[in-house]
Amino acid sequence: MKAHTELYRELPAIDELLRDSAIAPLVEREGQSAVADACRIVLGNIRAEIASGHLDAGKLALALSGLASAIKSELNRALGYSLRPVINATGVILHTNLGRAPLGQKALDHVRETAGVYSNLEFDAASGERGKRDVHVDRVFQKMFSGLSDAIASEQRPNRTTEISTIVVNNNAAAVLLALNTLADGGEVIVSRGELVEIGGSFRIPDVMAKSGAILREVGTTNRTRIGDYENAINERTRLLLRVHRSNFEITGFTEQPPIIDLVTLARNHKLPLMEDLGSGALFDLEQVGITNETTVLDSLRSGIDVVTYSGDKLLGGPQGGMISGREDLVKKMRANSLFRALRVDKLAYAALEATLLSYVKRDFAAIPALRMITLPKRDIAGRAEELRSKLNVAHLRVEIVDGDSLIGGGSAPSATLPTSLLALTSAKISADELAARLRSSLPPVIARVEEGRVLLDLRTVLPEQDEVLKKVLAELVE
Ligand SMILES: *Cc1c(COP(=O)(O)O)cnc(C)c1O
Repeated sequence: MKAHTELYRELPAIDELLRDSAIAPLVEREGQSAVADACRIVLGNIRAEIASGHLDAGKLALALSGLASAIKSELNRALGYSLRPVINATGVILHTNLGRAPLGQKALDHVRETAGVYSNLEFDAASGERGKRDVHVDRVFQKMFSGLSDAIASEQRPNRTTEISTIVVNNNAAAVLLALNTLADGGEVIVSRGELVEIGGSFRIPDVMAKSGAILREVGTTNRTRIGDYENAINERTRLLLRVHRSNFEITGFTEQPPIIDLVTLARNHKLPLMEDLGSGALFDLEQVGITNETTVLDSLRSGIDVVTYSGDKLLGGPQGGMISGREDLVKKMRANSLFRALRVDKLAYAALEATLLSYVKRDFAAIPALRMITLPKRDIAGRAEELRSKLNVAHLRVEIVDGDSLIGGGSAPSATLPTSLLALTSAKISADELAARLRSSLPPVIARVEEGRVLLDLRTVLPEQDEVLKKVLAELVE
């Protein structure tokens, strides 16, 4: 048996490889540096195998004969995208791990139209002077909340006129951080113990509070908090009353929470601002879409809450972002906070958000994919499922159509489900877990649920234009 040093000597040098007739075209196409890197990685792997004693002379010869194809696949891996489309067949519409709300065509068009060229992001073309980036969406928010400012001025704040302003930061976590830091740094914020939530990806109210410099003042108990609990906690250090939407859980049974109007009155009497972290935040009542029992941003503002924070890519159905809508004087302070500069969003997000918001202004809810998915009637989903099933005749794969539920997700009312029709897959040859694993490793990956020994696919969250490719994936699933 040859010694390791002798085996190493059989490995080609990099520059020799780069001139190889199978490799040279790759250099031509992808550039010398990327191909040289791929060669280095592949040769490094072979060296490691020699060192560990796994490669004798025969196996090495085999490895060397497959060198060009190994380098090609390494190159594909290195130069291919890591962030790629998947088919979401889970039925969870706002699936955080799968990118939450897909953007609509209008939003994509507006990003394409403005991002590859210069734009008036912070430029006032009329005056030729520097402008503010938030005007692009604040104007649309103003339109949606219009009428509200007047209502607030006359009903609840007879002595002052209040406009509603909106600013946008990177996400809702950032919105909460900025708002707390601006309104309560060094002071106390009163929150009910029943609202100290953790949202997926480690957003925890107590932690964000600590980072903001505000001091958390917990009141009440997990299941019951009364208005008197808030009142007793108010002292000269109090800066803010905070209410947090219980986005991803419910407390049922022996429970109590003061009505909003009581909190509004209490805050007014003590001249303290009242803020609500709404989380999902439908902008207004989406009766047409069937979302009726969610507290909306408009509801919150109308009831007299001073500042509302909510996500851009949950029920709003736009790009990732965190909105802060509220009293103009308070929002102005947040805009002036240097944290705002650190947390602001880029032109891509503004473009996508502006287009999404304009669909709301036009009441064109079908243009917003998340809302379109919410409104899809079960019979339409069943029709597509039946169509797909009728075209599939795959040996060893049983496809049935069963009733089930889709989930709105994204921290909307935790129990908000929608009746749906599911494709249920089983195979006598392989387990449901193995089927689901094969779906995940297909191209594009298909993400499904496994329940009671079946793989369940919900077409509610599969874009109709993906039905065809999904059919192809299923046809090749058990081979
Ligand atoms: C989702 C959510 C957040 C976090 O929002 P991101 O946009 O994901 O940062 C914060 N608070 C509540 C109540 C939420 O539901």
